Amino acid sequence: MTDHEPTPGIHHVTCIAGDPQQNLDFWVETLGLRLVKRSVNQDDPGTYHFFFADAEGTPGTSMTFFPWEGMSRGKVGSGQVSRTAFRVPEGSLDYWTDRFDDHGVDYDDRIERFGETVLPFRDPDGLPVELVESEIPDDDPTVPWTEFVPAEHAIRGFHSVTLWLADPEPTEDLLETMGLERVGTEQSPGDTPGDERTRFGAPGPVGKYVDVLPTVEGGRQGHGTVHHVAFQTPTDEAQAAMRQAVQSAGLRPTQQIDRHWFRSVYFREFGGVLFELATNGPGYDSDEQLDELGERLVLPGEFEARREEIEAQLTDVTVPRSETAEADD
Ligand code: ZN
Repeated sequence: MTDHEPTPGIHHVTCIAGDPQQNLDFWVETLGLRLVKRSVNQDDPGTYHFFFADAEGTPGTSMTFFPWEGMSRGKVGSGQVSRTAFRVPEGSLDYWTDRFDDHGVDYDDRIERFGETVLPFRDPDGLPVELVESEIPDDDPTVPWTEFVPAEHAIRGFHSVTLWLADPEPTEDLLETMGLERVGTEQSPGDTPGDERTRFGAPGPVGKYVDVLPTVEGGRQGHGTVHHVAFQTPTDEAQAAMRQAVQSAGLRPTQQIDRHWFRSVYFREFGGVLFELATNGPGYDSDEQLDELGERLVLPGEFEARREEIEAQLTDVTVPRSETAEADD
């Protein structure tokens, strides 16, 4: 019996970076995502929180980073999201390998996985990322941001996350509780530990898949690792029902926390990965005009009163702009 709606898919993924300028340059200029929010970590306001997404900050498109400069390089291991994959239109991977050559990006040979073509690469902090050629329907909810990458090749939100787990079974049951369905299992080319990959699918269309790989290899959090993955629970009601289902499954979700652009519930799942449930609203355009997203440091709620003190702790950064955009100013 379920009285909760399945999650439609991934809402956002949050990662740990090192140098904030290097992080901005790569995710905005090289990958062509839009900086939709420049803020601070609400639990550590001396650290930036950058949100990179499609043109409108559509749920299922935002990759977010805490640039914790004092931390050291992390290591991917069990209990973590090992890889984050994004959708790109079919036929666009030649464009991306050319672009990666021009920008000196560290990438691997393409691999085939569940009938799709995947281009694995790493960001400047060593974070494992992938582009997956995907059919993007005409009515897709994502809106390409074209300042640095043309629409026909632009990243269109998440494809999947891969979880590395010492004991996958309880997590697999949890994914099914959250409404994902088992898609299949296949040998996983090009991945370490190289074991069997089991795929689970949400209704989608964005951020549809969670892949599970068994490994006992230990990791540690640091630059180039994922901090948590958030799943869409579009409304407060859907979130409360999912929270109840997760609690009934034996986990200990937090109360709802106001993250200003969405409302969140967190829990550590059975394998140790930090999961979040996030509402679709109010959205990144709830406190900035759509055409001005990311242009200023936004300090939500009580943090605005401490702006001077907070700004003094933050490293100065410049958001990359294309020559065309600069000419319009
Ligand atoms: Zn989050």
